[in-house]
Amino acid sequence: MSGIVELVYFATAVTFILGLKRMSHPTTARSGIHWAGIAMAVATVATLFHPEIQGRYILMLLAVAIGGGVAYLGARKVEMTDMPQMIAIYNGMGGGAAAAIAAVELIRVAENPMLAETHGAMALWLGVLGALIGCVAFSGSVVAWAKLDGRMQKSFNFKNQQWVNLAIIAVAVLFGIIIATTTPGPFTLIVFFALALAFGAMMALPIGGADMPVIISLFNAFTGLAVAMEGFVLDNAAMIIAGTVVGSAGTLLTQLMAKAMNRKLSSVLFKQFGGAPSGEKTEVEGSMRPTDPSDGGIQMAYADKVIIVPGYGMAVAQAQHKIWEMVELLTERGVDVKFAIHPVAGRMPGHMNVLLAEAGVPYDMIYDLEEINNEFEMADVTLVIGANDVVNPVAKSDPDSPLYGMPILNADQSKNVLVIKRGQGSGFSGVENHLFYLDHTRMVYGDGQKVVGEMIASIKTL
Ligand code: NDP
Repeated sequence: MSGIVELVYFATAVTFILGLKRMSHPTTARSGIHWAGIAMAVATVATLFHPEIQGRYILMLLAVAIGGGVAYLGARKVEMTDMPQMIAIYNGMGGGAAAAIAAVELIRVAENPMLAETHGAMALWLGVLGALIGCVAFSGSVVAWAKLDGRMQKSFNFKNQQWVNLAIIAVAVLFGIIIATTTPGPFTLIVFFALALAFGAMMALPIGGADMPVIISLFNAFTGLAVAMEGFVLDNAAMIIAGTVVGSAGTLLTQLMAKAMNRKLSSVLFKQFGGAPSGEKTEVEGSMRPTDPSDGGIQMAYADKVIIVPGYGMAVAQAQHKIWEMVELLTERGVDVKFAIHPVAGRMPGHMNVLLAEAGVPYDMIYDLEEINNEFEMADVTLVIGANDVVNPVAKSDPDSPLYGMPILNADQSKNVLVIKRGQGSGFSGVENHLFYLDHTRMVYGDGQKVVGEMIASIKTL
C-alpha cells in the first residue's frame, strides 16, 4: 500500500507543478487553480491509506472537516476586497501547520530519544529549522492579516527595535541548537516555539506603507520552505515537492515585488520604511479642483488617447464592469484606450489584472509599468480610479518621503488627469498625494462605480 500511496503523491506533485504553470497566464489561471485543488484533495485522500495512519481516521476526518469547513465557508463569504487578508491568513495557516507537525515530532523525540536515531541527525536539524520558519510565517502572517484588515496600525516602531528582534532570533536559534543536539525538556521546547512566534510577529510589526506586498510574499516563501522541511522529517514526498514549489515561487515573487518597489529585501526587513505613520499628512501647497463626472466623461470622449490607472479603490467600488462598459463606448468613438497596471496596485499581486479579466477586458489592452510609463506624456487624459500611492509623484521628487524611490506610474506627465475617489482619504501608505494638487488634475468625487456610471451616461448623450 505504501508504494501506491507514494505513487499517488508523485502524481499529485506533478499535477501541482502543472497547475502552477497554468496559473502563470490569465487565460489558464482558473484551470490551474482547479488542477492544484484536485491534486491537494487526492493527496489528502491518499494520506488516509498511508500505513502509518494506523486507524486514526476519526481524528483526521475531524481535522479535515473543521479546517475544510471553515475555509469553505470563509472563502464563499469573503468580499473581493478582503481577499488579500484571507490569503495572508491561509498562508499563515500553512506555516502554522508545518510548525505544529514539527512540534509533535520534537515532543516525540524528546520523549523517546531512540527516535532521533530513526529520523537521523539531518532530519532533526531540518525539523527544528522548519519549526522556526513555520512559526515565523504563522505569526508574521497573522500580523499582516490584522494590518490588511485594519485591525492593527500599519507600522509599529520603537527604539532599538532591530536589536530587540536580533536578540529574540539569536536566543531562538540557541534554543533550536539545544533541541537538535540534546534531549530537550518541555521548558526548552516551549521557549523555542514562543521565541520563534514572537520573532515572526516582531518582524512584521514595523513593516508598513508600500513594503507590505514584499513581506507578505516572503512569508509565503517561508511557509513553503517550512512545509518542505517537515516533509523531509516525515519522509513525505508530496509535502517535500509541494513545499519546495511554494517556497521557490514565493521567493521569486518576493524578488519581483522588491524589484517593483525598487527596494532591497534587506532594506525592507531592517530599515524603517513607510515612515510617516498612517494618516499623518505632509503639507502640500495649493488646492484640489473638483469637476463633475459628466464633464470628465465628455473630456475623455473627445480625447485621442486615454490611459486608465486602476487601484485599490476600483476593487472597493467593484467598478471594473462599468469601466469596461465605458471603455467600449470610448473605443467605438475611436479613442485609443489602455490600462496601466502598477505591480503593487490593490492589495495583492495581480489584484487589478484579476478584476479586469473578470470584467472581460482583453489582455492586449493591459500594460505593465515599464511597458507604458513613457506613453503618459502622449495621453490626453489619464483616468485614475481608486489608485493613490502608485501615482504619487513624491516617490520621484521628495527624498524625505517614505515613498521615495518606489517606481510610480507617470500619470502626472499626461496632459490632463482625472482622479476618481470618494473624498480626502489617503492611500495605503498614508502619504499625501501631490498629483491631486497639480494644475492639470481634476478630482471627480464619489464612489468609483457610481461616478463611472455617470460618465457613461454623459458619453452616451454625445
Ligand atoms: P491606495 O490604497 O494607495 O489608494 C486607494 C484609494 O482608493 C484611496 O485613496 C481611496 O480614497 C480610494 N477609494 C477607496 N474606496 C473607493 C471607492 N469606493 N471609490 C473610489 N475610490 C475609492 O491604492 P493603490 O492601488 O494606489 O496602492 C496600493 C497600496 O497598497 C500600495 O501602497 C501598496 O504597497 C499597498 N499594498 C499592496 C499589496 C499588493 O500586493 N498589491 C499588498 C499590501 C499592500 P478615498 O477614501 O478618498 O475614496
